Amino acid sequence: MKTIYFDNNATTKVAEEVLEEMTPYFCELYGNPSSMHTFGGRIAEKIRNARQQAACLLGCEPSDFVFTSGVTESDNAAIMGTLAAVPNKRKLVTSRVEHPAVLAPCRDLEAHGYTVVEIGVDKQGRLDMDQLEQQVDEETALVTIMYANNETGVIFPAEAIAELVKSRGAVFHTDAVQAVGKIPLNLSTSNADLLSLSGHKLHGPKGVGVLYIKKGTRLSPYMKGGHQEVGRRAGTENVAGIIGLGKACELAAEAMNEENKKVKYLRDKLEEAILRTCPDSRLNGGEPRLPNTSNISFEYIEGEAILLMLDKYGICASSGSACTSGSLEPSHVLRAMGVPFTAAHGSVRFSLSRYNTEDEVEYTIGVMPQIVKRLRELSPFVAK
Ligand code: PLP
Repeated sequence: MKTIYFDNNATTKVAEEVLEEMTPYFCELYGNPSSMHTFGGRIAEKIRNARQQAACLLGCEPSDFVFTSGVTESDNAAIMGTLAAVPNKRKLVTSRVEHPAVLAPCRDLEAHGYTVVEIGVDKQGRLDMDQLEQQVDEETALVTIMYANNETGVIFPAEAIAELVKSRGAVFHTDAVQAVGKIPLNLSTSNADLLSLSGHKLHGPKGVGVLYIKKGTRLSPYMKGGHQEVGRRAGTENVAGIIGLGKACELAAEAMNEENKKVKYLRDKLEEAILRTCPDSRLNGGEPRLPNTSNISFEYIEGEAILLMLDKYGICASSGSACTSGSLEPSHVLRAMGVPFTAAHGSVRFSLSRYNTEDEVEYTIGVMPQIVKRLRELSPFVAK
């Protein structure tokens, strides 16, 4: 059975071109880019090239960022590094719908005496800008708010947030992992101080990411050790990973506009058909929204049950609930949006990529109503 992959916000297929670019850097060109010899120097040159490719996509200078092990490290480094560099301020502002890569370090800091404020969202998943305005003050060291939400695809007004934060003298960090490669981003005109991303969300490899650091931003290194990245991030570089990330950025920069038109067309077709053919289903998340993401709730049934049935048909999607943690709690994002408990429990996220086809969408449109009908027949919550 063919796999139909609609879980691209979790991870993406590595592009063939990316793999090809990475392959020589395991067994042939395996030198250390910090070495004095020519063999290592060739690697350093290739890393400079990858840096240039990533800078092009982000619209920044190649020296404006460090490579990391992924967005989780980038987020932690932004949060911990800012607080270490600005020790006189002990307040952080974030949102209730962040990924745990941001929420967990923030909550940990709260337990260690920092003041942490989590800004709410409305029913459409849009950030409460009034609350943000009230909360960012001269005590605030850092505001960390995502660029686009991984569960609903809702895009936050990052530039308006950045402007507000800058006017209050705080540092602004944004986790942009779901936005990069899906919507245009230009850091040369942005007020964001720090921005995180990962390779594996844009058809690059896993275990490699970027932390953009605007010139002049005060940030203590999070990873300490060697002198790599001019002392800003210690540790021998993930050479093949960085080369793959660079290539993935180049591909995204070349094809983003065209590809996203196609992705949005497929996502809209899938979404419209599911909402039309499955009774008591609703879309979670308003506009503006990423072109690839659709989060749909189905009343009276469990998201996990839908995923298991989809899996039987070879279709990969994901549920809004915290199933990875083994928790029965529904998604904190949907709860923050005020989605009723039963609907939040029955949510499924479809996230598409450039590799999806119209046939895959049509096949899924065909099976979804049957799955929902079958599960409702078994559901104790539906009046028989
Ligand atoms: N931040 C956001 C918004 C995400 O969507 C994810 C992964 O889904 C992460 C952070 C964590 O990514 P990684 O596991 O690649 O570090």
